[in-house]
Amino acid sequence: MNEHFNDIFVTTSCPTQQQLLDYVQGKLTAEEQHEVEMHLSDCELCSDALEGLSAIKEKEKIPGWIIEMKWSLLKKLRKRYRTRRKSDTYISLVVIILCILFLLLALFWAYHFSLRR
Ligand SMILES: [Zn+2]
Repeated sequence: MNEHFNDIFVTTSCPTQQQLLDYVQGKLTAEEQHEVEMHLSDCELCSDALEGLSAIKEKEKIPGWIIEMKWSLLKKLRKRYRTRRKSDTYISLVVIILCILFLLLALFWAYHFSLRR
């Protein structure tokens, strides 16, 4: 049963970036290498990623390069996320206020005209 669970785990979860890097650089053990290869045959995403990693000739420089890229991407994403969150709450607040105003106006007019009759 444990083995079965492991099989599912290997085929459904992607290796970490570090594992892929180690694979490219030949740092993995035979067993780990086999697991990555098994996964690569199932996962288009990882085989694409590996292709990109293998294409870079200066393999020793990969980790720093990726960390740098990841960091700038994270900063960009965080910035965009923050500004979008801000404008989202601003817009929903305006919509809610407008709805309340509209409702009050409608109630006021309904009350006003019912009194006149
Ligand atoms: Zn994968």
